[in-house]
Amino acid sequence: MNIVMFGPPAAGKGTQAKKLVSKHSLLQLSTGDMLRQARASGTELGGKVSGIMDRGELVSDEIVISLIEEQISSNKDNRGFIFDGFPRTVAQAEALDALMGLYDSQIDVVVSLKVDDSSLINRITKRFKEEGRADDNPESFKVRLNAYNTQTASLLPYYLSQRKLHEVDGMLSINEVSVLINEALKNKNKE
Ligand code: AMP
Repeated sequence: MNIVMFGPPAAGKGTQAKKLVSKHSLLQLSTGDMLRQARASGTELGGKVSGIMDRGELVSDEIVISLIEEQISSNKDNRGFIFDGFPRTVAQAEALDALMGLYDSQIDVVVSLKVDDSSLINRITKRFKEEGRADDNPESFKVRLNAYNTQTASLLPYYLSQRKLHEVDGMLSINEVSVLINEALKNKNKE
């Protein structure tokens, strides 16, 4: 089973993806983590994306698609993937469909976590104090939220038309959200 975790920044995608990994033995592919890793190891890619990330903008489709391509091709025998923070544009979603097709596979379900803007801002303010992630500062977060609304939210009709979209109330507790996601996956398996 291949799952896309979808939603605005700080909706809980990473937290829920990690819970699914341990329950279903899937591989979590987070482009945000891959890019942070590239920065931490001081690679050329890391240098190229650091300013963009700190400002809260999206890095190019070309960069993130090639990171995902590399991971899919080197983990062909895996039981399935959870995509976390990817795709974020229609071009990325189309590339992902094409890539999965190369391996006779497909995205089975897209879990969309719905959280209202004021709660996102509260969560990020708290995370910024606790973890100090540069792109969690209020100015960058505004840009990230705007990138979500203008570039990423247009994926909702894309996946809706593919009948893969499952909306989940991301305002509930971590465990309650996790239960709802697992119910959606069970229903999908029955289809
Ligand atoms: P995240 O941890 O998923 O919130 O990602 C942190 C930052 O990495 C984003 O604000 C973007 O700058 C960059 N990034 C991560 N994934 C993508 C993606 N799929 N497309 C473009 N930029 C991305």
